[in-house]
Amino acid sequence: MSPSDRKSGQFVVPGRRLGVIEEFMAGSGTFVEHGAIYSKTTGRTLIDMLNKKVSVYPLVHGVNTPKVGSTVIGQVSDVRNKNAGVRILIIGKRPLSGFFTGILHVSNVSPTYIETMYSVCKPGDLIRAKVISCLNRANHLSTEDKSLGVIYAFCSRCGHLLQLGRADMRCPKCANVEPRKVAQDYGKVII
Ligand SMILES: [Zn+2]
Repeated sequence: MSPSDRKSGQFVVPGRRLGVIEEFMAGSGTFVEHGAIYSKTTGRTLIDMLNKKVSVYPLVHGVNTPKVGSTVIGQVSDVRNKNAGVRILIIGKRPLSGFFTGILHVSNVSPTYIETMYSVCKPGDLIRAKVISCLNRANHLSTEDKSLGVIYAFCSRCGHLLQLGRADMRCPKCANVEPRKVAQDYGKVII
């Protein structure tokens, strides 16, 4: 994979080179040969930047697509004032059988009023959300429940994992402070 391809959700086939052991740990669905990591299966990559681990989640037989009520985990791809785009990586506990995106609108972030999505999440964050509507092939998401919201967030200045403070998120490396709407188990989720 070229460096620009190194993101979660890439479709890979068996034998696809994912990286080298100097840069990543080999996770499930991969194997190592001569210092390089390869996909063992047809599936999608999941790159855990925190632990520097690359895994491949096999594409399952049978359909696993977002439905109303599904809890999903995804990576925030873009953020605008009133909504954010999410690339869905996992539905329930199962990998996906396809490529899906979701939309989180500012009115579905929290039971309380939120002015702008810029205080909710940033591109690259991992987020847990519930699918509340699938109209017009768009998966509309909600993070209103306490268990929902950002589960891993990264400093927009230096990229370090942010730590949960009392009322905001802090970067232990550069002391940057940023807002987020976090899930109650922020930073503790094992994906
Ligand atoms: Zn920082």
